[in-house]
Amino acid sequence: MEIYLVGGAVRDRLLGLGVKDRDWVVVGATPEQMLDAGFKQVGKDFPVFLHPDSGEEYALARTERKSGKGYTGFDFYANPEVTLEEDLCRRDLTINAIAEDSEGNLVDPYGGQQDLQQRLLRHVSPAFSEDPLRVLRVARFAARFASLGFHIAPETLELMRELSAGDELSHLTAERVWQEFERALATQSPITFIEVLNAVGACEQLLAELCELDTTDAKQRSAALAARSSTAEQQFALLLAIATQNEGDKRAIDSIEALCRRLKSPNRYRDLALQLRRWHNALAGFESLTAIDQLQLIKQLDLLRRPERLAQLRPCVEALHLDLEITAPTLEPLLERLRTLSPQELMAEGFSGKALGEELERRQLAICAGLAAGNQSPDA
Ligand code: ATP
Ligand code: MG
Repeated sequence: MEIYLVGGAVRDRLLGLGVKDRDWVVVGATPEQMLDAGFKQVGKDFPVFLHPDSGEEYALARTERKSGKGYTGFDFYANPEVTLEEDLCRRDLTINAIAEDSEGNLVDPYGGQQDLQQRLLRHVSPAFSEDPLRVLRVARFAARFASLGFHIAPETLELMRELSAGDELSHLTAERVWQEFERALATQSPITFIEVLNAVGACEQLLAELCELDTTDAKQRSAALAARSSTAEQQFALLLAIATQNEGDKRAIDSIEALCRRLKSPNRYRDLALQLRRWHNALAGFESLTAIDQLQLIKQLDLLRRPERLAQLRPCVEALHLDLEITAPTLEPLLERLRTLSPQELMAEGFSGKALGEELERRQLAICAGLAAGNQSPDA
């Protein structure tokens, strides 16, 4: 059997980038041989194995043929006779279809190295059209490599357009769509992902809420956020806040919730997006809020107990309000002072029940009113 390194590891090393995970392809082996060598099979019918020590993926060379709709509608043909070239041919992009043997020799039958040099995302073969997920994958690679000057080959864009025009995209599971979207959000240029989907007519079907995004403006804000070493969650929240900025609060919230429900986004993504959309204006103009509004915001966001929320929201708020003059934060010192109030102390002073709650609130408001200079009194 022969073993080759393939996919992202070869591509990223040729680009001079760090390599995260490594994928391997095994030519001339049977599943039995792999199991005998101590590999663990991933799934019952799938010719992919995990290395007993490294846990890396070793896939038997295979060809694929479309047998139905959607991502699982594939027949695999893994057999010791399947050649490396045949296996590379079923891959999505030429830059992902370069193999490297144990001596460091490259096998590159589809011109992947040349396309790397020319910064070109180009499909390997017409079989590209057999898997709609590839529309999303190419959009994600366009986002990931945007800063390196990569663009999508016109003939590949054409296939992506054809795929998107049919009903193929509707057969993708929410998990698959979310996985690609989430990875795109973690790149340097998440907006490129949306632009590509829009350009091939896939955005309406997959991410309708983001179709109307002013991408020039969004790019500027997204880059400003990325410059503060943002997470995918923060980029997601920012994108949705921008996309819904011209809608009323109720419609905006509904639209964010609908998208998250449809894509089955993890709750932490949804919650941050909703918090940002609801509170970014108040956070941006915190100094000029009344003490009552300041306290309401602090309570709604539970900031006394969840300081990490503010740390997550702040860079997003700054990216949404780029013209904002960054002054020394008033919110953090305020939270510090509010935290010094303890119900126990009030109880020791004789407060209890409803009166305790009222007294606590009164003192909280006094602190808010006192800290922000020029603030109105609580009952103004
Ligand atoms: P990453 O750095 O994000 O891991 P990658 O290129 O390694 O990028 P993987 O999802 O790990 O992407 O897949 C490994 C390889 O398998 C790809 O480089 C590509 O050759 C092939 N591949 C994965 N998914 C598909 C797909 N849906 N269609 C065609 N080829 C695919
Ligand atoms: Mg990989």
